[in-house]
Amino acid sequence: MTVLEGIQLTTDYLDKKGIDSPRINAEIMLAHILKCKRLDLYLSFDKPLKDEEIKVYREFLKRRSSFEPLQYILGSVEFYGLEFMVNKSVLIPRQETEILIETILNYFPKENKLSFLDIGTGSGNIAICLAKLFPESTVTTIDISPDSINLAKENEKLNNLDERIKFVNADIKDFNPENNFDVIVSNPPYVSINEYKTLQPEIVNYEPANAISDFGNGLKFYELISEKANLILNKPGYLFFEVGKGQHSDVKIIFEKNNFRNVIVKKDFLNIERVVYGELV
Ligand code: GLN
Repeated sequence: MTVLEGIQLTTDYLDKKGIDSPRINAEIMLAHILKCKRLDLYLSFDKPLKDEEIKVYREFLKRRSSFEPLQYILGSVEFYGLEFMVNKSVLIPRQETEILIETILNYFPKENKLSFLDIGTGSGNIAICLAKLFPESTVTTIDISPDSINLAKENEKLNNLDERIKFVNADIKDFNPENNFDVIVSNPPYVSINEYKTLQPEIVNYEPANAISDFGNGLKFYELISEKANLILNKPGYLFFEVGKGQHSDVKIIFEKNNFRNVIVKKDFLNIERVVYGELV
């Protein structure tokens, strides 16, 4: 079987199984196996595939056709220009979360000495970006899942951060830090229980449910973290949230109820209100 034949067979199979963008999926998986760029495949269409390569391609195909997300199959994802390993114990970092990083980067000068707390670290993407972008600052990150903390530590190593981040494996409700923080940032589980049932199988069957949904009205963690922020933020202190589509007005009200001022909403590249942040004075 040649590269082109492999891609065509895989594309047809994924298409029949109802996978979106089957050709790109087929090409990305094969490029990963052959350790080349996707576009390089076009220069080697006639190259025969080795038995071992075909075997791995078949395994990938089986997983992808059961709707396992491509990122878990490949084992890594790019976020804000950095590489992060991912597995089923963590949420796959999303492109819109880069807006959260961008907003914080535009708000504080890089050379500031801030103490950041990232709540719900998952793969560690937010904490690791912050540590990279603010070299003088300290970063603490917390997650309830021990598997997430282990993976986030691996990702810290992968990104050569030299143990700059402090990892805490705990429920935010029980977290009583010795020192308060200047900035809290979080992309909490914000999908409501009703909306959760409508999500695509890639998400519902594979990504950790408690990283996606609060199994309530979607606002539970905004309430909880805004209240908690009053206890563990310095003054002035800052809170930055990613929010789901249509949640920005409710989250703004929660901010104001919890003593935050200068609350600002920022849109993402699809023009959806995606980040809400404010100041505690
Ligand atoms: N902090 C991670 C992210 O933003 C994980 C968030 C989560 O699990 N809800 O991608």
